[in-house]
Amino acid sequence: MREHARALEAAGARAVPVRRPQELERVDGLVIPGGESTTMWKLARTFELLDPLRKRVEAGMPAYGSCAGMIMLADRIRDGVQGQETVGGIDMTVRRNAFGRQVDSFESDVTLPALDDPPGPFRAIFIRAPWVEAVGDGVEILGRVERGEQTGRIVAVRQGRLMATAFHPELTGDFRVHRYFADLVRRAMEEE
Ligand code: GLN
Repeated sequence: MREHARALEAAGARAVPVRRPQELERVDGLVIPGGESTTMWKLARTFELLDPLRKRVEAGMPAYGSCAGMIMLADRIRDGVQGQETVGGIDMTVRRNAFGRQVDSFESDVTLPALDDPPGPFRAIFIRAPWVEAVGDGVEILGRVERGEQTGRIVAVRQGRLMATAFHPELTGDFRVHRYFADLVRRAMEEE
């Protein structure tokens, strides 16, 4: 979370933590970080955040999820635990731990043409990462992995004001993803 806050500040945004529904009401956009999506789901239930989150996403609040955050923004998940719920919003099916449990983490260069300012591949860090198995018509594919037999798997998407990456851009010092999201939030604020 601290890394996302740092990246957002570098992108010219002001970052505040959101743990409670009142805190959610005050933000113009939300980053859902990595971690463990099953824990996030349970905590969101306990803190009564799940429904407020769904309502704000439905009402058009921009949100960006990385890794477990990507899972939280998926309308459908595979390999979730029994009863696991998400916030949803992106018309996609995401498979948890898709790269295999034996490969805990890896780094790989990913090309994200829409976020290519300045140009160049992203050094993407994947940690027990999901991938996107299927997307609906309204979902823009921002990037795919290029790595052995997993080449072509979707790892970055956007649908309207929602975006998600299977990897962790906040860990690399490359703030292009956060800049793109901060711009998206600014545009959304202007439109309101
Ligand atoms: N495997 C985790 C999950 O299912 C995600 C890992 C991560 O966020 N780095 O939630």
